Amino acid sequence: MDVQPASKETEPWDSEPFIMTKKGDSYFGRGTTDDKGPALAALYGARAAVDANLPVNIRFLWEFEEEIGSPNFEQIITKARRSLTTDSVVVSDTVWVSRERPANSAGLRGLLGFLLTLETATTDTHSGEVGGAARNPIGELMKLVCDLYDPNTGKIKIKGFYDDVIPPTKQELSDWSNSGFTVKAFKKAHKLKLMRSENSLEVMKRIWGAPTMEIHGVAGGYQGPGLKSIVPPRAEVKASCRLVARQDPKKIARLIEQAVKERNPDVKVSFESMAPAFLTSVEGPLPEALKRAVKFAFKRDPVFVRDGGTIGAMTSIEKVLQCPVFFLGLSLPEHGYHAPNENFDWQQASGGMVAFAKYFEEISKLPR
Ligand SMILES: [Zn+2]
Repeated sequence: MDVQPASKETEPWDSEPFIMTKKGDSYFGRGTTDDKGPALAALYGARAAVDANLPVNIRFLWEFEEEIGSPNFEQIITKARRSLTTDSVVVSDTVWVSRERPANSAGLRGLLGFLLTLETATTDTHSGEVGGAARNPIGELMKLVCDLYDPNTGKIKIKGFYDDVIPPTKQELSDWSNSGFTVKAFKKAHKLKLMRSENSLEVMKRIWGAPTMEIHGVAGGYQGPGLKSIVPPRAEVKASCRLVARQDPKKIARLIEQAVKERNPDVKVSFESMAPAFLTSVEGPLPEALKRAVKFAFKRDPVFVRDGGTIGAMTSIEKVLQCPVFFLGLSLPEHGYHAPNENFDWQQASGGMVAFAKYFEEISKLPR
């Protein structure tokens, strides 16, 4: 059910990934923290709210295709829109930055994937015979990439690319500073050796609050051992942009197309995937209720952070149901999202049930 693949044969699991194994206060198995544990915490929290006769109507919407990009979700909720009408949505997903500080995600980045291809011949040619006169598609694509963005700083050089970006607010930046994020833990968790910045706030701004361009792969030319003196006929760059609110993926796609055309008109651009960023409000009665509920459950003031990834279903919910959407996340970095030995623990499970129940009580007291 909607989890990442797992295999004890090829990955270092200490227990069978598809048999839940309890060790002390932790539950090991694929999907325990992403997202069965948090989803069950929401279910039991709702059960407590119903048992307490709270004047609040709760409906559950289970999305079981999130890990494959929610291909049917928007169509299905559009069809069922009437029966799903609601004042607000709370989602049992996302990860705290550190166990010491409860964190709710208030934003996700969007995604725009694209391929750049250039064909200058129909076959490999001899660099001694044609070199100097023949065009080299790999070199030209590398130059094009560097004309589109600066690989050292990450800054995108396309006109208008940053126009619609909403920078994080002062309150958000202060929350981020108090989230428990450290560059040291971040580097360790992701096995990074060299970074563009070693400053915590700067890193958070880069991964949560700013758009990116990333080169995922370059294909073409001779890839075998040693050297082969050819001029390759064709090359391809696999790239994508992470987008932030309120960048429109379609507009950004047009800007990229235009920028490529101006810089190297022989290069073809094709777009692969498109999802807008998601941003929820961190001020107002509902976020305040969420903060009170999380503080009640975990005895610590929560912060609003963001998540650098993309969950397409969030924008679908917002678009189709036309209501505010919030996260009440319970997973921790050490729970191993998408990794071997994925686990969830009783502290987060029990706190989570209380947080959801309290949140339902808090919103039942709000004026309609
Ligand atoms: Zn996942």
